[in-house]
Amino acid sequence: MYFDKFHDECGIFGIYSPYKVDTFSLIQFGLFALQHRGQEACGFSVLRDGFIISHKSDGLVLDFFRKISNSECYYGNAVIGHTRYSTEGGQSKKNIQPFFGEDSYGKSIISIVHNGNLVNATNIRKKLESKGINFISEYSDSEVILRLIQKYLSESDNSLEKAIQKTTIDIKGAYSVIVLMNNKMAAFRDPNGIRPLCYGMLNESTYIFSSETCGIDSVGGFYVRDVLPGEIIIVDQKKSIQFSLLTEKKNTKKRICSFEYIYFSRPDSLIENVNVYEIREKSGEKLYEQHPVEADVVIGVPDSGVPASIGYSKASGIPFKPILVKNKYIGRSFILPKQEMREKMVNLKLNPILDEIKGKRIVIIDDSIVRGTTSRRLVYILRKAGAKEIHFRSASPPIIGPCYLGVNTPSKKDLISYNHIDKKNIEKILNVDSLEFLSMNNLIDILGSIHYCFGCFTGNYPVQKN
Ligand code: AMP
Repeated sequence: MYFDKFHDECGIFGIYSPYKVDTFSLIQFGLFALQHRGQEACGFSVLRDGFIISHKSDGLVLDFFRKISNSECYYGNAVIGHTRYSTEGGQSKKNIQPFFGEDSYGKSIISIVHNGNLVNATNIRKKLESKGINFISEYSDSEVILRLIQKYLSESDNSLEKAIQKTTIDIKGAYSVIVLMNNKMAAFRDPNGIRPLCYGMLNESTYIFSSETCGIDSVGGFYVRDVLPGEIIIVDQKKSIQFSLLTEKKNTKKRICSFEYIYFSRPDSLIENVNVYEIREKSGEKLYEQHPVEADVVIGVPDSGVPASIGYSKASGIPFKPILVKNKYIGRSFILPKQEMREKMVNLKLNPILDEIKGKRIVIIDDSIVRGTTSRRLVYILRKAGAKEIHFRSASPPIIGPCYLGVNTPSKKDLISYNHIDKKNIEKILNVDSLEFLSMNNLIDILGSIHYCFGCFTGNYPVQKN
């Protein structure tokens, strides 16, 4: 199977202006703001004088842009870009986005960026290949979207709207996509709106699309609203903006990924006009209500565990102290393929202020417990520093299933809560005095039940795996 080993977590960004602007700086700012969504590779496509020019490479956003000396060559009317984070098996340079399509003279005429994961890309790719359509990437489901749009463009009088509508009848899964052509840009989102995508304005005629609102903020734009599940927005050179739906038949029940709020998105972003930080802080308050404990200090695992620990501190009156110090220059430890290296990385990444720990009863909160690597290691460090009691809290319910809709979670066999359904067992493995997970009911209470995908906590996904 092409796609079994490989799920992307990505950030996408696009700007469309009727006039030539400094698209080079704008895309650099936008992608840098979305760096947390993907740290392995990045790239962009610029529309300049009717030509689409693309540039992409592995590495972090600022390193990538620093290597480009002729920045003025990338000034244009419009630009789209992508930050990428894949797991083992999908790291080939051929899979870096944007993907672009050429006309019969070799001129780039279309380019796309995609965040999400399709569940039926393998079959579609096989069918397209059997009809003689060539693919450049090794595994990418995003390229499948591009090749379908290209195919349907030629069958629909070059109407981008119709081509997107036809494409989304074929594809299944999570997709937030931005498409650039030589006279327009489109953004669309799957009928469940699983991965985020929003739009904003830089001025009255310049449109911005971004995975998160922090991307819009980074270029000084203002957020208008989220692209709706199942919606297509097209902007063009006539300064017009057009809103339409993918297809009338498609079921458009909102199922936004709850993990975006818990871990993935930046705390300063809004999803559906709701601030991510606010949700995280509330989860800490709920954790205290759910299971109060007496302690001397609350600490949060930086970065995404900190807002919940502030919430816990507010609700309990136990002081919050930022005594786990994070090395800011380190990436996310999760991505390392070997367990031994992941454990070493935790030490390198997080170090406690020892004097603040000795003899103390500690509540420590992380946004989630996945494999248990971070939590086990942190407890070991805290015990070594002389903590009297350790009460571990997860600001999300136990993760019992992998995500096949765009978040990199490991397979079931590596998930500590899948392997040890009995909480007492996990308490023993982590070596803590008590362990609590935010209950599903409390998570639903904070988020509102009907609008979210809770697949990794419940095993019920909005789209079935093929
Ligand atoms: P683990 O150490 O395997 O239990 O993973 C839990 C830690 O990884 C927590 O500190 C989370 O902030 C972080 N985390 C959770 N989900 C992900 C993910 N999909 N990608 C990267 N890091 C994650």
